[in-house]
Amino acid sequence: MNQKIKYQLLEGDSKVSLPDNLVFGRNFSNHIFEMDYDPAEGGWVNAKIKKYEDFNLSPAAMSLHYGQEIFEGLKAYKHENGKIALFRPEKNFERMNRSAKRLCMPEIDIDFVLEALKEVVRIDQDFIPTKEGHSLYIRPVMFSTDPFLGVRPSEKYKFFILLSPVGPYYPEGFKPVKIMATKEYVRAVRKGVGECKTAGNYAASLLGQKIAKEQGYSQVLWLDAIEQKYLEEVGTMNIFVQFKDEVVTPPLQGTILPGVTRMSVIQLLKNQGYNVNERRVTIDEVVDGYKDGTLLELFGTGTAAIISSVGRLKYGEELLKFSDDEAGELGKKLYKEITDIQFGRAEDRFNWLTFLD
Ligand SMILES: *Cc1c(COP(=O)(O)O)cnc(C)c1O
Repeated sequence: MNQKIKYQLLEGDSKVSLPDNLVFGRNFSNHIFEMDYDPAEGGWVNAKIKKYEDFNLSPAAMSLHYGQEIFEGLKAYKHENGKIALFRPEKNFERMNRSAKRLCMPEIDIDFVLEALKEVVRIDQDFIPTKEGHSLYIRPVMFSTDPFLGVRPSEKYKFFILLSPVGPYYPEGFKPVKIMATKEYVRAVRKGVGECKTAGNYAASLLGQKIAKEQGYSQVLWLDAIEQKYLEEVGTMNIFVQFKDEVVTPPLQGTILPGVTRMSVIQLLKNQGYNVNERRVTIDEVVDGYKDGTLLELFGTGTAAIISSVGRLKYGEELLKFSDDEAGELGKKLYKEITDIQFGRAEDRFNWLTFLD
């Protein structure tokens, strides 16, 4: 792609105001990057960085009717020396292109989009909060725009990158979460779109999520759609189970999101000599392990929280209680190791960081 980015920046010194209490996903920076896909114009065109404002969208835009939408989530971290680091951003754009293929959407040029991402982050770098545990959440999105009510892949699309300054996921420190496994609803089925980061997967998960919330659990632990016995993933995170002699995470068989954090945790653990296996694990194996003491801990992995230690797991009549205020040993250790790399406190020994300059 031989495109130049156009700049339509806010005039003068644009104001940067960050509230003291940054809630996840509520605040946005001054600018976004966007571009349009139009086959009549030869593909991706109109790349620009412009002020954050509402879109002008047809009520007939296909994404509103048939859900052709994909997204990504990653973060930028400001180090103490002022350098700005992105965590494995190429993995997000590679995954976005896999999602695009599955949903019949156009692929993006990873090098170009990564440059565009760095550019908009550089322009709005004052929105990267520097307080402990704070970062800039980056949300790339692509959606279909053809004004048409027939069912087919859209011809035109918009791609944009939205920036949102965020505080630490757990403002009171690294606290365990309560999760609930359910047989009532399923999230995704093999050969469907479960491995794509697409809006519909979240829409499908909301009711189960709502019911879990009503019962005092913050997220759902999804079981497989066919037999409802194998662990899949948790709401917005992949799941890991530590038994005495192995660490297990469900394999990538098309129904779960191939998390960048998941991939990084596997690499870290293998590197430290842990017996890590990507294999199917049943909810009964987890319950039995809890009862006979061979299960040590469970934790989720994802960009927003990095690591979420599981304090309680509810499944039917079973309640697996770990701790409501102390995170598990392994979860805590991994959280520290990964965030130390992300915030530049530890050597980037796997070359995971991409710097802005
Ligand atoms: C994004 C996401 C994850 C975590 O992926 P990361 O790349 O680690 O952030 C896990 N599950 C689902 C359903 C997701 O959407």
